[in-house]
Amino acid sequence: MKKSSDESVNVEIGKELIKNSEDENTRGRIEETLNLPIDHFERYRIQFVDSESAHLVQEIHGYKQIFDEYLFKTAMDDYFDQACDLYEGRGDENIILLLKSINFDYNKIIDSDLEEHEKVAKLVKVIVKAKSYEEAVDHNRGKEIEFDGFENDSDIFDIKEFLYNTFGRKLLEECLVSKIKYFSDKILLKIGKNTYIVPIDIYERSRKYIPNIKENKYKGAAFSSWNSNHEFSQKYVLTPINLFSFYDETPEEIDYLEKIPNDKKMRMFKLGIINHEIAHHIYDYLIDCDKCEEWEKIVEKQKKPLTQYSDRYSNHELKYDEYFAEAVRIMTTSPGYLGINFPEIDRFIKVNFPEIQEAR
Ligand SMILES: [Zn+2]
Repeated sequence: MKKSSDESVNVEIGKELIKNSEDENTRGRIEETLNLPIDHFERYRIQFVDSESAHLVQEIHGYKQIFDEYLFKTAMDDYFDQACDLYEGRGDENIILLLKSINFDYNKIIDSDLEEHEKVAKLVKVIVKAKSYEEAVDHNRGKEIEFDGFENDSDIFDIKEFLYNTFGRKLLEECLVSKIKYFSDKILLKIGKNTYIVPIDIYERSRKYIPNIKENKYKGAAFSSWNSNHEFSQKYVLTPINLFSFYDETPEEIDYLEKIPNDKKMRMFKLGIINHEIAHHIYDYLIDCDKCEEWEKIVEKQKKPLTQYSDRYSNHELKYDEYFAEAVRIMTTSPGYLGINFPEIDRFIKVNFPEIQEAR
């Protein structure tokens, strides 16, 4: 049969996607998108979920520019001596603790190939950045997370109460989450380096072309990495969590939800996704260098993957981050499961974050 012109366009797009893809696995999946109906799909490609996140990036970027241009000089006056001491190996204990607290390995700067003055300048910047976390938390004390889009989902209409009961007010304030926005009728897909937001019917139709499209579907997105990436941002800011449709999800197949009654499985699955995203903030902001080292050792000792999802990250740079998020998800939505199956992981969370309430 002769190919229609539409299909040849799709092949071109597909080739482009393959060229841009990072790893073999993604490549395999993208090859299957060669026959994607472009009219019904490409137009859903996005950079930002909404204008609010676009503005936030602008704000972060804008502040970095202003800092470099105007504020850096004052910062140098304020912290030059401390940065030099750090560089010379006799750093102030409080400054060392401060950098450790944001899990920043300042030795990487000291051991780098940069010129001496560049290293000191970088150290000054990171001291200012670390201080901005404390300032952002102080500013966030007494404020509540905003919830948007949960009115029509009877499974999780009580999300706010659930989150505040599970994590406690203090810990949530330290997570610097501005709002949790639920796009319940939209599906988020990541294919290669591209992100798409598609309506449910388009998702259904694309299944014909990409049988395993479910593997590209994401239910939640956190932005704590915008803060923890010290190249990208110069101060900590509040960031949102986005939640997407749970269409086509099958919580009855998930092992750690086995003991949850059938009519509650979907609720616990949805709550688990939100808790997973909250946990990314805890990991990114509240696990210091020492805790991080301990956590990585515990994860490496595990003989089986925590969840199917965490298994996807077994060779990924975000492995320890995702393991932590999954561990918190299980602990808070599946009574007893973590303690019985992963006792060391269970203990680590209980010792370091005693305020997190286990599922009962
Ligand atoms: Zn995650």
